[in-house]
Amino acid sequence: MGLETKRVALLGATGSIGRQAIAVIAANPGLELCAAASGSTALDDVDAPLKQVGGDLVELLERAEPDVVLNAVVGFAGIHATLWALEQGVDLALANKESLVAGGELARTALVRGGGRILPVDSEHSALFQCLEGRSGEQVDTLVLTGSGGPFRGRTRDELTEVTPEQALAHPTWRMGPKITVDSATLANKGLEVIEAHFLFDVPYERIEVVLQPTSIVHSLVRFRDGAALAHLGYPDMRVPISYALTYPLRAETPLAPLDLTSLTLEFQAPDTETFPMLALAREAGERGGTAPCAFNAANEVAVAAFLAEELSFLSIPEVVGETLAAVGGAPARDVEDLLAADREARELARKVAA
Ligand code: NAD
Ligand code: MG
Repeated sequence: MGLETKRVALLGATGSIGRQAIAVIAANPGLELCAAASGSTALDDVDAPLKQVGGDLVELLERAEPDVVLNAVVGFAGIHATLWALEQGVDLALANKESLVAGGELARTALVRGGGRILPVDSEHSALFQCLEGRSGEQVDTLVLTGSGGPFRGRTRDELTEVTPEQALAHPTWRMGPKITVDSATLANKGLEVIEAHFLFDVPYERIEVVLQPTSIVHSLVRFRDGAALAHLGYPDMRVPISYALTYPLRAETPLAPLDLTSLTLEFQAPDTETFPMLALAREAGERGGTAPCAFNAANEVAVAAFLAEELSFLSIPEVVGETLAAVGGAPARDVEDLLAADREARELARKVAA
């Protein structure tokens, strides 16, 4: 086995995904943690030959020479690691959706140039990846992304005026880091995932749907042109997509109980796009293309941080993002410098709008 051990560089090792990834790697003798990084939290209890708190992730990756990069950093900060892995043709196990949303066009070019692959860790995209099995876009009728609807599903706008960060952080089905949990409450997360799916699977936006499935058992599905629809089911547990991305094309054992079908309720409903405008704003940014998705992401990061700091109301999050999107040019990024500039510009605008 020794020679076949896969060396994993884990970025964002102290986060929700990072912790679960460490458990998955520890339980699998075919996987070895060759490097671990965090933004500011200590890595004392993480056992890896290379460790780094803060600093340049690309430098760490160059030293680590991993077989696979698990990018579990939160936010646009993960962009350099994503582009590095794609350029080098190193497998990219991608949890950090913000980097693909913001830099999708550059990432696609880098992926072709590097000749590697992206193994999605986001549960919906892992589900789609498995249902698609590499099939090309023309065989696909629609991708259907499922979502729980978050803690505020079913509420009216009036019932959202006073919601606190604490209430937004109480997700009904998933335990995740604070940023993505707020994104789940606004439906920005599903919006980011629509753009992520577009760049991962090369399917146009009008053929990517969102449907709510409140118990988070159906992780997404693909409708094919022959009338067949394939769905991916399982308990909501990120160790499954993490394990799949790290062991692909094999399926390793995980400690999960088998799915007990007779105890499940599987209901589907349309999202309330009036009360939760982030979904439509994400689609608008995606359709515009260029750096519009980068601006959407940047404005959302600023607005979520302000909401968590109790400086912005919940309902102001989509306002900040909408006004920022309306104000940016959104011209394509020729290179990473252009992308960084678009991100900076959108953040400055969003901070002004939010103030
Ligand atoms: P988290 O807040 O729990 O953890 C984030 C991690 O990133 C921490 O280890 C932090 O130290 C690190 N980090 C932040 N900035 C960094 C930087 N500049 N350099 C290096 N490390 C940095 O977040 P999370 O919930 O684990 O989410 C991570 C990513 O995975 C996000 O993009 C999220 O959208 C995605 N994701 C998470 C889940 C989930 O269940 N948590 C599910 C799907 C997708
Ligand atoms: Mg997801």
